[in-house]
Amino acid sequence: MGKYRVLWMVALLGILILPGCSQGILEGIGTRTAPPNAEDDIVVVEAAENGEGQEVEGKIDTEDWITAESDVQRPILMYHSISEGNRLRVPREEFRSQMAWLRENGYYTLSPEEAFLVLTENRMPSEKCVWLTFDDGYTDNFTEAYPILKENDMKATVFMIGKSIDKGHHLTENQMMEMSGNGISIESHTINHLELNRMTAEQQEAEMVQSKGLFDRILDQDTTVLSYPVGRYNEVTLRLSEEAGYKMAVTTEPRGASREQGMHALHRVRISPGLSDGGFASLIENASNH
Ligand SMILES: [Zn+2]
Repeated sequence: MGKYRVLWMVALLGILILPGCSQGILEGIGTRTAPPNAEDDIVVVEAAENGEGQEVEGKIDTEDWITAESDVQRPILMYHSISEGNRLRVPREEFRSQMAWLRENGYYTLSPEEAFLVLTENRMPSEKCVWLTFDDGYTDNFTEAYPILKENDMKATVFMIGKSIDKGHHLTENQMMEMSGNGISIESHTINHLELNRMTAEQQEAEMVQSKGLFDRILDQDTTVLSYPVGRYNEVTLRLSEEAGYKMAVTTEPRGASREQGMHALHRVRISPGLSDGGFASLIENASNH
């Protein structure tokens, strides 16, 4: 028993003394030597690199993406209002049914950043993917489309008109911010919604630069996509869109989008009211290659 008591005493002393000692040693190293700092620097650099990587990968996890052998063509669907009354308005129940069709058939909905990778690098999260877009930023995009998109865990992009924020039947700043934080990207449809091809280069540039600045500021983002009002553009528009800092621009020319159209003249598939599920399915399938 006596032997065990001695061992216990030794162990107890060790527990009491060692932490104090090691703390003293660490303090000593920390205050007096340079090399540990150099080591710290390496750790910091690695952490920063990892952080950056995580930021990119955090937004887009491309680990499981598949690569196509040639240029990818995929549909950018174009909606306007989710309501009834004219050829630009898709009733809510039709929209609900279309989103259900996409989900049930395994379609992935792209963010602008993902769509850029799909089109420029031919890498995809799934063979079946679409980019959902809404022009003009109507209030019903928030009240009707957004709840259905959320239910289905889908992403989409709204092209908002700068001058229409907080006006009439258009989105408010708060609605834009709420959507933007929940998978719905808000991008530019210029300030005044005028046909760009009828404007001087200076006027076009002002529409593009000012609207980018506006959405960058309101949503604390880098606005990267432009939708040409009424789909109108000319050669100058293509150059100015890129110079204004947009990575992509979309038109209303009807077809699946692919890089060969030019990243500032991407085609879109217009969704009109009255489509059956079968009609919707063939629009999407016909706009996809591979
Ligand atoms: Zn428009």
